[in-house]
Amino acid sequence: MSSKPDASRPRAADTKKVHIADTQMTRQNWYKHVNWLNVAFIIGVPISGCIQAFWVPLQWKTAIWAVIYYFFTGLGITAGYHRLWAHCSYSATLPLRIWLALVGGGAVEGSIRWWSRDHRAHHRYTDTDKDPYSVRKGLLYSHLGWMVMKQNPKRIGRTDITDLNEDPVVVWQHRNYIKVVLFMGLIVPMLVAGLGWGDWYGGFVYAGILRIFFVQQATFCVNSLAHWLGDQPFDDRNSPRDHIITALVTLGEGYHNFHHEFPSDYRNAIEWHQYDPTKWTIWSWKQLGLAYDLKQFRSNEIEKGRVQQLQKKIDQKRAKLDWGTPLDQLPVMEWDDYVEQTKNGRGLISIAGVVHDVTDFIKDHPGGKAMIKSGLGKDATAMFNGGVYYHSNGAHNLLSTMRVGVIRGGGEVEIWKRAQKENSEYVRDETGQRIIRAGQQVTKMPEPIPTADAA
Ligand SMILES: [Zn+2]
Ligand SMILES: [Zn+2]
Repeated sequence: MSSKPDASRPRAADTKKVHIADTQMTRQNWYKHVNWLNVAFIIGVPISGCIQAFWVPLQWKTAIWAVIYYFFTGLGITAGYHRLWAHCSYSATLPLRIWLALVGGGAVEGSIRWWSRDHRAHHRYTDTDKDPYSVRKGLLYSHLGWMVMKQNPKRIGRTDITDLNEDPVVVWQHRNYIKVVLFMGLIVPMLVAGLGWGDWYGGFVYAGILRIFFVQQATFCVNSLAHWLGDQPFDDRNSPRDHIITALVTLGEGYHNFHHEFPSDYRNAIEWHQYDPTKWTIWSWKQLGLAYDLKQFRSNEIEKGRVQQLQKKIDQKRAKLDWGTPLDQLPVMEWDDYVEQTKNGRGLISIAGVVHDVTDFIKDHPGGKAMIKSGLGKDATAMFNGGVYYHSNGAHNLLSTMRVGVIRGGGEVEIWKRAQKENSEYVRDETGQRIIRAGQQVTKMPEPIPTADAA
């Protein structure tokens, strides 16, 4: 067995010299920054395939074969390279591991060992300089710029791959990578079409070259599109996102926010209706006895993350709203002063010991001017809470935005008790904002107060 280096692996840098990736790109040295071998694999070969397609007619049998082989090799990456080797989200028997190492090699995306090492660094150092395909460096960079441009391998975050070095299938594939690529990437698709229905050249161009192009572009989307498009239902501190389009393109790797939160779960999609053919395939292998130990996070843990993220979003929305001046920031008023001011024509109303200035609201009061005026200068707690009308939650919220003061204790109301209640009992969000839940406004009485009509 030969020990040729991995074709698309960055060559080890001379330790004494400054790596080219760490130097400024100029007109004179730009070509040194380019990884020409990868350019040939990722861009050159597909272009040659497109050109050849002009004079090679596409036969329908070859077209079907190309699609089937697309799924085989794509699943080699998603179910093999990604979920089996990079994340150990399940275990596979030897025959399945050999199969995945072969078809995964046919996708022409580097050896399992190289691919998984970078992918583990991507998870460990997401969005940082040590992330080999950080989307912070641009969408195009995360898609293929990171392979087309030379990277200093020492900058990529360190990860443990001792388990991969102990897997003979991984080691064998890494050592024979070029042979695997040529055989599985080009020769097998050509042989099947050639021996099957005589379309040697079509097999080479469509099931070989162009199919490689589509598999590469599709799986590259996991690094680019999945960090750029969609929602973040579990955590929004980093870039991974969930989107159906990414899932459709990547054989189910589109629920990437979930995946970065729960990377060792063999699933990407957790709902039955979400598109995750990689998950379905792994599950089917389990039924056939080829895969075992499928790892899954408890739904309790998954839901906790989802609820916390929802809470964070709600807190952000709540913080933008006007909930009225907090009680402890309101000036203290004497009861007599309150009564005096209303006599002088100011529209003040005291409810639960909180004084509200409703002067501008009297004309808009849904219950009419007379009703609201009857409470001015009085303790309207009971009237507001069922004595005249059991006001709505919306009314309590609106009322709190009109707060102007609190009545000193010992009068007709027990404001200090209530102020303390608001200060100590009310839950605060992570930014310290008080959370006023429906029905918990300080003006709200637990039960409607059935006093005689105040009018
Ligand atoms: Zn990612
Ligand atoms: Zn991953």
